[in-house]
Amino acid sequence: MAQMGVLYVVATPIGNMGDISARAREILAAVSVVAAEDTRHSSQFLRGLGLERPLLSLHEHNERARATELVQRLRAGESVALISDAGTPLVSDPGYQLLRAALAAGIVVSPIPGACAAIAALSAAGLPSDRFCFEGFLPARAAARRRRLTELASDPRTFVIYEAPHRIAASLVDIAAACGGARHACIARELTKKFESFYRGSLDELVARAQSDEDLRRGESVIIVEGAEAEPVSAGRLDETLAVLLRFLPPSMAAEAAAELSGVRKNEAYARALELGKAKRGDSA
Ligand code: SAM
Repeated sequence: MAQMGVLYVVATPIGNMGDISARAREILAAVSVVAAEDTRHSSQFLRGLGLERPLLSLHEHNERARATELVQRLRAGESVALISDAGTPLVSDPGYQLLRAALAAGIVVSPIPGACAAIAALSAAGLPSDRFCFEGFLPARAAARRRRLTELASDPRTFVIYEAPHRIAASLVDIAAACGGARHACIARELTKKFESFYRGSLDELVARAQSDEDLRRGESVIIVEGAEAEPVSAGRLDETLAVLLRFLPPSMAAEAAAELSGVRKNEAYARALELGKAKRGDSA
């Protein structure tokens, strides 16, 4: 049941209606009002769930004004569900201004989690997912876009990009130019829908595929790119880092910090820290 005066951030499906959660349906059925990016799209979506709900539009052009109005209603004890056209609100979708206003007014905000294209794509891409970086849409202007990609090119984390169908081929070319064509990547297309497909390979292979395969350029896609390979750390550089850290920290902590800073394994840094400690004390090896 929806609680009075609570703002619910409700994820909706990204294609397959079966992905609506039982909690999302329950909240949408119970709140006083549903704030939606596109009310026509969302009334159809709600009808598909068998619901007729009061809707209020909230999109990038009216979000500030709507936020004030919705916060007043929340303060008066109404409950509100925020949804976007697909997936999780605020993930490359409106809602941030409303959340800021609600939190500033002391309103309780509660997420109802569900589909998100970035996470769905990452979960099946087959690229490292222990650390990743969500970039949303790349800047539209060429110079800003190149700058962003140059920054990303040296990041060791896998990165996730949203892209519109008509730009996917050009984006792959830009990403390959910044990161090198040998880097592995995955295009996750039409997730959860009838023509869901994954294209995996090097960026060079995906650039070629985007040119020859029209399907790849159709529908909605997420691009996932593996992170940069960590630069091998020279023995001298590791020693320098450890020498400084050992002035302030015991060997185990110095090794942990040096491993984090340089990317070498913790036990390797620890063994080296002990050796440096011995050498400093003048112990024989
Ligand atoms: N809030 C949404 C979410 O949680 O994923 C994202 C909204 S953003 C405006 C739309 C972009 O998400 C698309 O351009 C595409 O990159 C990605 N996307 C959304 N649905 C998708 C799907 N079913 N398959 C692949 N990508 C999708």
